[in-house]
Amino acid sequence: MATCPYCGGEVERKQGEVVLTCPYCGTAFTVDRGDVGEHLMGRVNYDLHQVFNTFKIWALRIPETPNDFYEKAHLKNFELVFYPYWVYEITGYFSTQTGAEKSAVEVSVPSHTMMRGTPLERAKLSLSGKVFYSNRYVVQRGGRIVNPSLSPEEADSIAISFAEEIVARRLSSRLGLSLSARLEKIETMKRKLIHEPVYHCLYEYNGRNYRFMSDASDSRVLYAEIPVELKFRVAALVGGISSFAAGVTTLIVGLALKMSLFAFTSLAGLALIGFYCFYKAFLSKTTVRQFFAS
Ligand SMILES: [Zn+2]
Repeated sequence: MATCPYCGGEVERKQGEVVLTCPYCGTAFTVDRGDVGEHLMGRVNYDLHQVFNTFKIWALRIPETPNDFYEKAHLKNFELVFYPYWVYEITGYFSTQTGAEKSAVEVSVPSHTMMRGTPLERAKLSLSGKVFYSNRYVVQRGGRIVNPSLSPEEADSIAISFAEEIVARRLSSRLGLSLSARLEKIETMKRKLIHEPVYHCLYEYNGRNYRFMSDASDSRVLYAEIPVELKFRVAALVGGISSFAAGVTTLIVGLALKMSLFAFTSLAGLALIGFYCFYKAFLSKTTVRQFFAS
């Protein structure tokens, strides 16, 4: 338990959390009473129905998706989670191999360790369209929030290295070189805490369950599992069998002609294709992680 420095309310502290959000007044504060700064949130601009529709239309663009997917996929349950990001606007002088460069970058740092290695890690947030955080809004929408386990100070140093990577990538692609960048002098560095709404959904198709994740603010699909149509799996199975058959034939012919090196390398190559086809055939759901640049 901790006490809110603004309203005095008792705030529950979950393991690992270093920033807490008061459920009564919405104030975000660090456990050592440090100031968090501006606390914003993304609004839920798309309801569940809209998000599921957008997802289904998106899924149909993938060739392996069954044709009856739109009618037969049904939503089973969902959770709306507001995830924390430290979002920065950094302006400064970056030194690179070709000289110094003044740049402005926007950086988002996922601020809970549970977000590492998930599609949430790479989501790029923009400050546009964000509103002041309201706990009542989260509750009204039936959502829950995750608080940062990364302190503002820890986030600052990560943000600087992200900014350096972004500037290096930007310059490298512009100049066609492979450059690195170092932030030499910070002119401005503004940090904000943003809670971004994300739907975690479970849906059913033909008696099996699949998951997807969408950003509730802009309806982007962050993660998706999609079933594969039967005819694609049969085609892959047939392809696998013919590859193995071709491999064996090549081996027999090659050995008969005393071209053993050729025979074995061909067999290996065709067997590899065969295994890949079998893998595709027995993979009952395709896992697609799709990211859109915002
Ligand atoms: Zn409070």
